Amino acid sequence: MALNWTALAIPAFFIFLGLEYIASVRKKRNLFTFESSVANISIGIAERLMNLFVSASFYGLFYYIYDAFALFEIPATFWMWIILLLATDLIWYWYHRLSHEINLFWAAHIVHHQSEDFNYTVSARITIIQAFLRNAFWCILPLLGFHPAMVISILVIHGTYSFFTHTQVIGKLGWFEHVLITPSHHRVHHASNEKYLNKNYGDLFIFWDKLFGTFQREEEQPDYGLTHPLKSYSFMWQHFHYFMEMFAAFRKAETFSEKFRVVFGKPEDLDQQVRKVLERKFLPYKTQAKSTLRFKAYLTLQMIFTIAGLFSLILFIDYADLADKVFATLLIITTLVNCGALLEQRRWIYYLEYLRLFFVTALLSWHLGSAEILMAGALFIIFSATSDSVKRWYLKFVYDL
Ligand SMILES: [Zn+2]
Ligand SMILES: [Zn+2]
Repeated sequence: MALNWTALAIPAFFIFLGLEYIASVRKKRNLFTFESSVANISIGIAERLMNLFVSASFYGLFYYIYDAFALFEIPATFWMWIILLLATDLIWYWYHRLSHEINLFWAAHIVHHQSEDFNYTVSARITIIQAFLRNAFWCILPLLGFHPAMVISILVIHGTYSFFTHTQVIGKLGWFEHVLITPSHHRVHHASNEKYLNKNYGDLFIFWDKLFGTFQREEEQPDYGLTHPLKSYSFMWQHFHYFMEMFAAFRKAETFSEKFRVVFGKPEDLDQQVRKVLERKFLPYKTQAKSTLRFKAYLTLQMIFTIAGLFSLILFIDYADLADKVFATLLIITTLVNCGALLEQRRWIYYLEYLRLFFVTALLSWHLGSAEILMAGALFIIFSATSDSVKRWYLKFVYDL
């Protein structure tokens, strides 16, 4: 068994984020909001966590397709690597474009576009649902006959590159602008200005957009985010609101063709009223959290522990047993839900604290083989969670209510 060094992507992410932050301060530009950064990073944590459990099966699928169905036997020569790079980018272009043009795909991709900030934290706004979809598209490559080892290497380069295009601190880059997707081109893609909508889908090269008529140069300052902004930092809502909107619209649709359009039609044709109805139902009135130092510190600490936990889990994944993996996953996801709910000032986070305590107790009792620990933990949780005075103290502590 060995350490899994892909965990180092996490510190690398934060080093570049730190550099971007320093650059933004030097330029006297306020590019980060606390809430948005927490929401963006939370989504990235969940994706990295889930990816840990599913990436091997994606790679396994590439090998299976290559072994069983490869159309050609493509040698790993220099020119074939170049062709693979171009083919990967072309597939990305269409995957990404269809993700904007088909409701079912947009439901997954919309998460990447919810942020109204635009900085490196936005590159973390990827969900595992998108990964499933993206990898289905990548299957074309082993089917053509590119060896999975080549495909996986190119995907790492391809995936890493797109991180660097999510920034406002890099201006236009001279002649690179004619060849590559630069930060300037990707800023256009994330903008909600009318002229910038549905433009610049490429990941690495800009010429696909020019070829297929979706290129737009960055001219006026972009406004970032969705045309109908999401008024919530709820972890669950951000992930699933569009699926829920589709489900509600699907039920409302009467004819087969209407139902078909809800699933495979264009996002701009989906009934915009549906979200308002769902918001009233699932996002009851909330007061804005007072951003006291204590509130921010409490939230930041949770993020730091979660990131450290994810880093350790990835690094030591070969040493973790099933109980550790289940425990770590439940604890991390609950903490992310908690952080989103904190930003929304939800009072039910009080009960999430006990849920987390229960997970810790359960893991301890599992490893020590002691049912007594679980019993004692459960009793403490029942007595404490039902106490009004503890609840009042907790809410006062967190929200300063
Ligand atoms: Zn997009
Ligand atoms: Zn992006």
